[in-house]
Amino acid sequence: MPELPEVQTVLDTLEKKIKDREIIDIKILYKPIVETSERTFKRKLIGQHFRSFKRRGKYLLFEMDDITLVSHLRMEGKYFILDDSYPLSKHDHVIFYLDDGSQLRYNDVRKFGRMELIEKEDDYRCFKELGPEPFAKEFSLAYCKQYLGKKKLPIKQVLLDQSFVAGIGNIYADEILFAIRVNPLRRADKLSDEEIENLIKETRRILKKAIKAGGTTIRSYTSSLGVTGRFQLSLKVHTMEECPECKEKIRKITVGGRGTYYCPKCQKK
Ligand SMILES: [Zn+2]
Repeated sequence: MPELPEVQTVLDTLEKKIKDREIIDIKILYKPIVETSERTFKRKLIGQHFRSFKRRGKYLLFEMDDITLVSHLRMEGKYFILDDSYPLSKHDHVIFYLDDGSQLRYNDVRKFGRMELIEKEDDYRCFKELGPEPFAKEFSLAYCKQYLGKKKLPIKQVLLDQSFVAGIGNIYADEILFAIRVNPLRRADKLSDEEIENLIKETRRILKKAIKAGGTTIRSYTSSLGVTGRFQLSLKVHTMEECPECKEKIRKITVGGRGTYYCPKCQKK
């Protein structure tokens, strides 16, 4: 599932490729992906230009001239920029025809992704549930202490909760906990101030590094591949066999229904 760094990479790449392009037509091939009525979706978007590219948590926000297109990739959503000679895939569900002859295609094997339009001033309803962005000053020691102090759940589970901090998913949660040497099952309210400070610091460091890595990989793609948001990051524990620090065998457990990887030696407590 794309997490914050992947979403940011997709946005940055799209910005380079389609900024100020105008939508001249839209085809919706699988309707449930678009939550706004098809008529309104087309009427409000055709003739509009992609002006700015923003992110909130894992949501992509395309600010047009008069309206904002919100997109969530969920499990497998991808964007491709292709010219019309490129054959349509059966997983292409929404096609935006652009004024330079190219097409922005939304491709989604699992069809879980969603799009909708919001008026520019509106706060999108889902955003109200979202916690602070990891890079925002609101993601502070005081905030985390207060939030975590009330949670008796495993810290891994709390890290995945988008109302604590927006944008972190299963991969980065494992990596962050390894970086701060905290066991994924430790109760959130039992973290020390020092550990919380480290959690904030390492969250930012790891996400920043991943965004940078994503950018590098995406730039090396050939144009026909477009934007997938996949990238390579030197993962330390997630899906790994052996701890890079102590060579102990990485353990896999389930926390809150999600596969969780950690080093039993480095993350004892
Ligand atoms: Zn280890």
